[in-house]
Amino acid sequence: MADQFDLVVIGSGPGGYTSAIRAAQLGMRVACVEKYDTLGGTCLNVGCIPSKALLDSSEHFAEAREGLKVHGVLVQGVQLDLAAMMARKQRVVRGLTQGVASLFKKNKIERVTGTARLVSAHEVAVQGEPAEPARTLATERILIATGSKPAGLKTLPFDGERVISSTEALSLTSVPERLLVVGAGAIGLELGSVWARLGSRVTVVELLDRIVPTMDHGMGKQLQSALKKQGLTFRLETSATKVERTDAGVRVTLESKGESFVEEASIVLVAVGRRAYADELGAREVGVAFDERGRITVDPHFRTSVPGIYAIGDVIAGPMLAHKSEEEGVAAVEHMAGQGGHVNYDAIPNVVYTWPELASVGMSEEDAARRGLTVQIGTFPFAANARAKCLGSTEGGVKMLADAGTDRILGVHILGPRASDIIAEAALAIEYGASSEDVAHTVHAHPTLPEALKEAALGVAKRSINI
Ligand SMILES: Cc1cc2nc3c(=O)[nH]c(=O)nc-3n(C[C@H](O)[C@H](O)[C@H](O)COP(=O)(O)OP(=O)(O)OC[C@H]3O[C@@H](n4cnc5c(N)ncnc54)[C@H](O)[C@@H]3O)c2cc1C
Repeated sequence: MADQFDLVVIGSGPGGYTSAIRAAQLGMRVACVEKYDTLGGTCLNVGCIPSKALLDSSEHFAEAREGLKVHGVLVQGVQLDLAAMMARKQRVVRGLTQGVASLFKKNKIERVTGTARLVSAHEVAVQGEPAEPARTLATERILIATGSKPAGLKTLPFDGERVISSTEALSLTSVPERLLVVGAGAIGLELGSVWARLGSRVTVVELLDRIVPTMDHGMGKQLQSALKKQGLTFRLETSATKVERTDAGVRVTLESKGESFVEEASIVLVAVGRRAYADELGAREVGVAFDERGRITVDPHFRTSVPGIYAIGDVIAGPMLAHKSEEEGVAAVEHMAGQGGHVNYDAIPNVVYTWPELASVGMSEEDAARRGLTVQIGTFPFAANARAKCLGSTEGGVKMLADAGTDRILGVHILGPRASDIIAEAALAIEYGASSEDVAHTVHAHPTLPEALKEAALGVAKRSINI
C-alpha cells in the first residue's frame, strides 16, 4: 500500500524545504523528496551559500594582502591555504544542510531520498538506489520545487574540467592562472571576484553592452570600474564562439563587432544563466503545461494546469532567487490551506555580492518610464557617509526613486559596502508603501551605512543634509 500524505514536495531547495515546513506548521502531513543525499538544493549546496562563504574568505585574503595598510595594520607573508578555505566553505554548507534535516525532524516532515516521478496528480514514485524497488507516495497535493540547473552554451559545451559551470568553480583545487568568465551577471561577477582576489587573471566576456544588465544602468557602470580597479578585465559586446583544449587549458574564440580573436585561459567558466529543471519528473506526461522556455506555467495561486499540482521557485517564471522561491512556497501552501498567501513581486530585493555590493529593490528608472510613471530621484554617495569613511569603503551610493505625484517609494538602488544588508530597509519601505518622506523622517543610528538611505530619501525633496 502507498504511503498517504496531504502534501508531497519535490525538491528540498529553499523553495521546497520552506514550503514543507510551512505546510507542516499548518497541520499537513508532509513528505519532501530530494534526489541528492543532502538537503537544501542549489542554494545551500552549490549556490548562494558556498559562493558567499568563498566571497567572504577571499575578501579577508585580499584585505590581509593589501587592504589593511590604510588602517595602519601591516601584515607580512600572507599566504593562501586554498584547501583550508574550501574545507571551511564545506563546513558552512554542511552546518546549514544538516540544519534543514533537523528542521524536518522537528516539524515531523518525512524526508524521502530519491528521484521523484509523477505517476498521476495524486501519486509520486520515488526511485532511491537503482537496485531498490520504487516507493509510491499517495498524496492529496503535489508541490513541484525542482529548481534550475546551469544553462550551457552550444559553442562552449561543459566538460567539468576546463569548461565549467558555477558548480565546479566553487570547488577548484588550485587557483587558475587565467580565468575566462562568460557572462557578466551576478554569478559570473561573484565567482570572477573570488578567483581574482585569490590571484587569477580574470577576463569577463559579455554579449550585451553592459554588465549586470537587469540592474541600475549607472550603478552597473560604476561597479564595472570598481571591478576593473581590482584587476578584472571586461570584454563587452563580445560572444564566445568556439573552444579548443590546449595543454595548458583552453583557447577560446571570441567575436565582437564582426572581428574575431582568440583568448587563452586555464579555465573558462560559463555563467550565462540557469534553466528551469524538470527533467525526469514526468510532469509533461501527466499534463502539466510548460512555457516556451521550459518553465512550468502557474496561475497566481501557483496552481499548474493539473488540479492538485502546484509549482514554485526557479522552475517557474520570475527572477531565479532563493528568497523569491521561499516566498512563493509559503504563499502556495497557505493558499492550499485556505489562507491568502501573497508574494509582492515589486518588493523582491536582488543583490550582487561583489565588493562593492550592488543591490536593488523595486523599479529602475526604465521600469518606471515603461509604466508611464514620473519619478523624483534622490541620491547620496557613500563618500559623504561617515561610517563608509571609517570603513575605508566609499565607492558608490544610494539612489531612491519616488513617485513624483504621491512620493511613494518605487525603487531603491545601492552600490556600496554591505548594500545587501541596507537593501532590507528599502524592501520594508516598499512593502509598507512608504513615502520617501517616511524614510527621511525615520531616525537612523549614527554613524551607520543606512544613513545613506535616509540621505537619499531626503534628496528626493532636495534636502539632503550632508552633501
Ligand atoms: C553560484 C550561485 C550563487 C547563487 N547565489 C544566490 C544568492 O546569493 N541569492 C539568491 O537569492 N539566489 C542565489 N542563487 C540562486 C538560488 O540558488 C536559486 O534561486 C534557488 O536555489 C532556487 O531555489 P529552488 O528551491 O527553486 O530550487 P533549487 O535550489 O534548485 O532546488 C531544487 C531541488 O530539487 C531537487 N530535484 C530536482 N528534480 C528532482 C526530482 N525529480 N526528484 C527529487 N528531487 C529533485 C534538486 O536536486 C534540488 O535539490 C545562486 C545560484 C548559484 C548557482
